[in-house]
Amino acid sequence: PAIDRYAVFGSPIKHSKSPQIHRLFAEQTGQSLSYEAQEVKAESFAEAVRAFFAAGGKGLNCTVPLKELAYRFASHKTGRAERSKATNTLALQADGTILGDNTDGCGLVGDLLNNHRITLAGKRILILGAGGASRGILGPILEEAPAALVIANRTVEKAERLAEEFECLGSIAGCGFEALAGRQFDLILNATSASLSGELPPLPEHLLADKGNCYDLAYGNEPTAFVRWGIAQGAQKSLDGLGMLVEQAAEAFFIWRGVRPQTHPVIDLLDRERKVVET
Ligand code: NDP
Repeated sequence: PAIDRYAVFGSPIKHSKSPQIHRLFAEQTGQSLSYEAQEVKAESFAEAVRAFFAAGGKGLNCTVPLKELAYRFASHKTGRAERSKATNTLALQADGTILGDNTDGCGLVGDLLNNHRITLAGKRILILGAGGASRGILGPILEEAPAALVIANRTVEKAERLAEEFECLGSIAGCGFEALAGRQFDLILNATSASLSGELPPLPEHLLADKGNCYDLAYGNEPTAFVRWGIAQGAQKSLDGLGMLVEQAAEAFFIWRGVRPQTHPVIDLLDRERKVVET
């Protein structure tokens, strides 16, 4: 029988680590499948997805800038995809329909809880940024029942609107960066894309509480500007999003294959590889 095909669509996609991650998962779990990266722009998204499934494709990951389009494309969605209004995983169902899910939030929470022993219950949490990534993580974070959740964004109205959209799930407020002065948080998550250009949102001093942690959703071969900021602020841990990337992939793999791969060996391997690149 033909090998089951999977792929990640996005633009730019050349540097995506998803093909390597899914190949490692397949090897580890003894699953026979292929997974490739395909450059797909928003204009050609619907056509590319139809062609992929028509040619026997079984599942897709969708990344920047396609997550909202993927959400609209899916014939039905999981609850967490509905709440985030974005989809990073499409799965062909037995009846030929396409299920849309969003595994980003559970990837982040899984990385924090299981890999780093950072709990969210009762904590004061700050999220920087109000774009697609924030949308994906808000529901799963609120499910952990933090004491308070604040979203701060450059465009203040976006943070306020996002907070309103999610306030039915727990205590949440939106504001601009200047409104953070004098406040303190136990966990600060950077979900802005500022790190991608080596920038940092304007953050006041003493924002991080004693023994607090920092987490940048972005990742790279070198520590991001926000990871370095966290270290300078005395964070207990200042982490980047490599673990989240692997955890969200593992959740997608589980949706497609019904098998849960181990994430530790894959995170360790990717982490060792980037340390080699650095030196
Ligand atoms: P979006 O483009 O949807 O949102 C970008 C956000 O960043 C907006 O809130 C924007 O503010 C803000 N922003 C951009 N530049 C700056 C700046 N210089 N200073 C302050 N704020 C800025 O991006 P996504 O939400 O899709 O992605 C955000 C980050 O999360 C990316 O770095 C991405 O790589 C990462 N990510 C990581 C994942 C993982 O698995 N590790 C998964 C998904 C995302 P404004 O609204 O004012 O424009």
